[in-house]
Amino acid sequence: MRIDKLLANMGYGTRKDVKKLLKSGGVHVNGETIKEGKKHINTDSDLVTVYGEEVEYKPYIYLMLNKPQGVISATEDLEHETVIDLLLYEHAMYEPFPVGRLDKDTEGFLLITNDGQFSHALMSPKKHVPKTYIATVKGMVTDVDVQRFKEGVTLDDGYVTKPGELKVIEQGPVSEIELTITEGKYHQVKRMFEAVEKKVLTLKRTKIGKLTLDPELELGTYRELRQEEIDLIL
Ligand code: URA
Repeated sequence: MRIDKLLANMGYGTRKDVKKLLKSGGVHVNGETIKEGKKHINTDSDLVTVYGEEVEYKPYIYLMLNKPQGVISATEDLEHETVIDLLLYEHAMYEPFPVGRLDKDTEGFLLITNDGQFSHALMSPKKHVPKTYIATVKGMVTDVDVQRFKEGVTLDDGYVTKPGELKVIEQGPVSEIELTITEGKYHQVKRMFEAVEKKVLTLKRTKIGKLTLDPELELGTYRELRQEEIDLIL
C-alpha cells in the first residue's frame, strides 16, 4: 500500500494534509525519512512512524456498542441519530456499519465493523449464529409458550420460525424472559410473541454467538473487541 493512502486511512487527514505531513519530514519508514507519497509499504513488516510515534496499521475494526433506544441502526438518517453518530472520529474514519439491525426502541449489543466478509458471514442464514435477547412481555409467559417457541411459531406472514429457546426469568402480568434465536427476520422477537398473543414491552440484545455484551458498557457507549472476542461470535 502507498504510504499516503496508509496515512490517510489511519486518520492523518486528507490526501493534501498527508502530503504536507510527508513534506515536513515527520514520517519515517524503518528509520528512513520518507517525503514521497508514492512510497510502497509492506503493512506486515515495515515500521512506520509519524514524529516518532508508531503507526499501527489495521484494516478492520470491530466494535461492541450498547445501543440505546431512539437511535437508528443505520449509517445515515436525515431525521434521527444513527449508531455511527455515537462513534468517535478515530473509529468512524474506518467507515464502519452496523451488522444487522436492532429496532429503534431495542437496546443492547450491536456489532459495528467495516469488515464486509465478516458481516456477510454473520448475517448468513446458513450460519445460524444464535442471538440472545432479554425482554419484558405483557402477559403471563408459560411453559406452553416455551414449548411453542421450541417447536417454532407461525408469524403474521405465515413463516414458521426455527426453534427458539425461551426461558422464563420472572412470571407475572408482566413477565421477564430470555430468548435465543438463530435467525433474524424483521421484528422477529416481537412477532414471535405476537404469535402467542403477547406483547413485547422492552427488548435488549445481550449476546451474539458466544459473546456476551460487556456489562461495563453504559448505554450509548462502545469499545473495540479483542481478537479472542471476535472469535467467539462466528
Ligand atoms: N427482534 C425484534 O423484534 N426487534 C429487534 O430489534 C431485534 C429482534
